Amino acid sequence: MQQGKINVQTENIFPIIKKFLYSEHEIFLRELISNAVDATQKLKTLSAIGKYNGDISDLTIEVTLNKKKKTISIKDKGIGMTAAEVDKYINQIAFSSAEEFVKKFKTKSEAEMNAIIGHFGLGFYSSFMVSKKVEILTKTYQKRGETDAVRWECDGSPDYTMDVLDKTDRGTEVILHIADDSKDYLEEHTLLGILKKYCKFLPVPIQFGTEKRWEKVEGVKDKDGNDKQVEVEKPRIINNTDPIWKKKPVDLKEEDYKSFYRELYPYTFDEPLFWIHLNVDYPFNLTGILYFPKVKRNLEVQKDKIQLYCNQVFVTDSVEGIVPDFLTLLHGVLDSPDIPLNVSRSYLQSDPNVKKISNHITKKVADKLETLFKDARPDFETKWDDIKVFIEYGIISQPDFYDRAKKFCLLKNVDDKYFTFEEYENLVKDAQKDKDGQLIYIYATNKQEQYSFIETVKSRGYDVLMMDGVLEAHFINALEQKMEKTRFTRVDADTVEKLIKKEDALPSKLNDDQQKLLKEMFEKQIDSKKFTIVFESLSEKESPLLITQNEFMRRMKDMSALGGGGGYGFMGEMPENYSLVVNSNNPLVGRLLAETDNDKQTGTIQQLFDLALLSQNMLKGKELAEFIKRSTMQMTSDK
Ligand code: ADP
Repeated sequence: MQQGKINVQTENIFPIIKKFLYSEHEIFLRELISNAVDATQKLKTLSAIGKYNGDISDLTIEVTLNKKKKTISIKDKGIGMTAAEVDKYINQIAFSSAEEFVKKFKTKSEAEMNAIIGHFGLGFYSSFMVSKKVEILTKTYQKRGETDAVRWECDGSPDYTMDVLDKTDRGTEVILHIADDSKDYLEEHTLLGILKKYCKFLPVPIQFGTEKRWEKVEGVKDKDGNDKQVEVEKPRIINNTDPIWKKKPVDLKEEDYKSFYRELYPYTFDEPLFWIHLNVDYPFNLTGILYFPKVKRNLEVQKDKIQLYCNQVFVTDSVEGIVPDFLTLLHGVLDSPDIPLNVSRSYLQSDPNVKKISNHITKKVADKLETLFKDARPDFETKWDDIKVFIEYGIISQPDFYDRAKKFCLLKNVDDKYFTFEEYENLVKDAQKDKDGQLIYIYATNKQEQYSFIETVKSRGYDVLMMDGVLEAHFINALEQKMEKTRFTRVDADTVEKLIKKEDALPSKLNDDQQKLLKEMFEKQIDSKKFTIVFESLSEKESPLLITQNEFMRRMKDMSALGGGGGYGFMGEMPENYSLVVNSNNPLVGRLLAETDNDKQTGTIQQLFDLALLSQNMLKGKELAEFIKRSTMQMTSDK
């Protein structure tokens, strides 16, 4: 028996490992199973090149829970280790990586550590996060003496023992004697949960316990003539060793992708709209499948559904920094050994490989959308309302995405017709230029509420876009920055004359004194903090009173409500403000001025004002009830 001290500079590192990996204790299992998988894969490679001739027909890794003895064991049939290898890899190298972790810990702030924890390859020594004692029983694949198996044991202090062992089967078994404060891991469902999280797609079968299954008995029928079924107890294999993202797209059918989606998200009922199968091996290695899901109104819920794997080992479901922000709305898996995982997020973003991967993903997504658009535009249009949020988000958040997206990004008008940017420009460029040559895109955000405005605008031969998505305020801003001499304005941002100013205003039928008099009358009845009274000389046929809302102010408010309006957060606090436009050319306004009966005058103002509110969908509650009552009474007295 050999006894030794692990070469330590830092006195006892285990308490530190234990304390500061606190929130991620469960990764010990991922680390140990990854080691077992590596050892198995190495053996497969040796066998493939003829350097190993033994039996490799069953390479299943077994995870065993012994509640009585309070142990968890991970047993593989991989290459195993000689005594010299245990000494080198476990006593020296692995330990020094654990020690390095501790050193890093000492120089970093706690916040930085949190970013590292969980991604730091602590490997074998992470087992001490949950164990008071760890044993390794191992026998190398190499032909050596009969008793050339090794038992290593360490109780969490720098002291270890190494012993010869009577073990005849090839491979390594790691036995963890679980510490009292980690007893949770001795629950079967806890272990199963962790295995399913990290090991679901590992390439070597992993068995944990058994499960009961119904199986047919060959050639035996039951009394109804059906195949007889019996319940059998079978080893429970927790992983799918051959996930579809590793396969070639030509070998896969639509149904394979859909059923994999269900496997990934068993609680999602919607089918994905479409998907992209990634498969790159140069200059970096990346495989995976990205799904476009049906988007819900609440974008946050949608985020962080992409699972990141490293050689089929689950790493994280937060891919921020690895894929562009707007693509974090997608679902699916990414698998790459080239993404450095043991670094902080801020470092990730500057890593050249991560940048290349991120660009590649963006390009693939854009290519796919462009093909869908070109090859099947009608189908693309039916999906548009569901996918537009990705594209709009991309245009908002990633300036260079616009150049790709402008080929397939669609605008929809209130008549449900779809246009590319170019098509739309051609549609409106003759009619919708103002006197300064600016192209004005008019849009609505709610067909019902803005109905009367939409109708007025359409009656002028203008087109109205439908902009009712979640991100619309930001999107419109981004488009204005990209498109030359183009401005967006909502249907109710101004009177139709002013939305697209073609020429100077008509002469007014009211002089300044008359306007002043009217203004005073209005101000007695109307909240002038909320409504600014302005006079405009519109056509006689236009309504006498109109409520409009300044485009700029409204959009800023919308953006700050969405969050991230670029420093306009304070706008959310601003009171609402509207313009009450008095059409000085409408005959009713003239009559109002001439009215000598005071009651009639105030009554008419109230009625006209309420009608203007109604057409903006702003007349509600008590005011609406009073309006109805007053209108009914009016009709009765008119008789
Ligand atoms: P890493 O896996 O990152 O190299 P570890 O600390 O997990 O670091 O393991 C150190 C080394 O110990 C491994 O590189 C490997 O050579 C050896 N090792 C660990 N587990 C096994 C195993 N189950 N079978 C064979 N060798 C192993």
